[in-house]
Amino acid sequence: MKKLALHWWILIALGLGVLYGYIATATGSTAHVLLYVDPFGQIFMNLLRMIAVPLVLFSLVAGAASMNDTAKMGRIGGKTIGLYVMTTAIAITIGLVTVNLIQPGTELANNPEIRERLANAFAGQAQTSIQSAENVSIIQQIVSIVPQNPFESLAESKMLQVVFFALLLGIALTRLPRERGEHIIHVFQNLSDAIIIMVQGIMKFAPIGVFALIASVICQIGKDPETLADLMGALGAYMGTVAIGLIAHMVLVYTVLLALLTNVPLRKFFRAIAPAQLLAFSSSSSGATLPVTMTCVEKGIGVDEEASSFILPIGATINMDGTGLYQGVAAVFICTVFGRELSVGDQLTIVLTATMASIGTAAVPGVGIVMLTIVLQQLGMANEMAMGIALILGVDRPLDMCRTVLNVTGDATVATVVASSEGLIHPGERHHEPS
Ligand code: ASP
Repeated sequence: MKKLALHWWILIALGLGVLYGYIATATGSTAHVLLYVDPFGQIFMNLLRMIAVPLVLFSLVAGAASMNDTAKMGRIGGKTIGLYVMTTAIAITIGLVTVNLIQPGTELANNPEIRERLANAFAGQAQTSIQSAENVSIIQQIVSIVPQNPFESLAESKMLQVVFFALLLGIALTRLPRERGEHIIHVFQNLSDAIIIMVQGIMKFAPIGVFALIASVICQIGKDPETLADLMGALGAYMGTVAIGLIAHMVLVYTVLLALLTNVPLRKFFRAIAPAQLLAFSSSSSGATLPVTMTCVEKGIGVDEEASSFILPIGATINMDGTGLYQGVAAVFICTVFGRELSVGDQLTIVLTATMASIGTAAVPGVGIVMLTIVLQQLGMANEMAMGIALILGVDRPLDMCRTVLNVTGDATVATVVASSEGLIHPGERHHEPS
């Protein structure tokens, strides 16, 4: 009998996790899920996070050293950043078009009572997000890409700093006398291959991890059924708008880029990255998904490590198309609810600020909401900001899950397009999914 592919197992686990979480919520027995099931999800996430930094360090040093061509590296870097910024700006524009067409905020604008009730339920949480946004300065973020101490960067998982250091180390190794340099490069290459084997091993537990993560998310979301019903009623249209925008971006931008600029069949691409997408959905974290994205793109699509080891870690930190699109929808939604009319100029400000913020807030956790505060400040909504954010925080988790899928798909798309333009896709070699 043919073995079921990994992504089907994960999908089945996801469905069972939803069911289990739903039954636990409906029967009022969520405590055992949070106490005994959730830890399996946390262990799985820790395993992925554990290998993300070593994987990036080892594979990028090996990748940069084997490329051994700074002009090519610069070209790949330029294309990567260019595509990342372009796709993010398009995503925000798609978000704005969708929200302007659907206008999900008009009903709440006429219903101050529900608005107040929802906002009050999440006021405390909103305050915390706004405070973390206060420390963000885009210039400071750019300066901090250059680490003072690379070991601290490794210890604190500061991905862009790790990328910066690994690139320089990789280049420096090629400048050593041949036999000495080659020896060390082989060590890094072997370490990188060993970590990929670890990723494949960890992915065997993905169905268990995903089941636990989803069951516990459902229990957390469903803990207060009355607020949930309120939220769904009031914010259903808003959630639908975000979902439509995300799907539109996937279809209009990624599939078109892949079809026009690469020879990789769409079916093969989406089959290859399905495990990464499912994991992004379950974990809401592009960072934790990174090792799986790298493995899927290298082994499933055949992208050379030279390209993927550089493009994907940068993408996991700065390329957030789903998050950007969500900024556009959320900003317009909040403005409509508070009766603030937005001109075309204001909407352009949203595109510019959200694009800059998505690059500048690389290292900040809970990044979606932090970016939103920057955008709202720019629109002169500082007074309404806390209440506006509190209003949408209740449904942030499911939307975060969906936008993370787009973020990860965007990284994989750009990696495939750039690698294809440089002749760095070797489809014939080993195109199977991590199993
Ligand atoms: N959770 C998203 C990611 O990790 C970021 C966000 O939208 O908050 O890609």
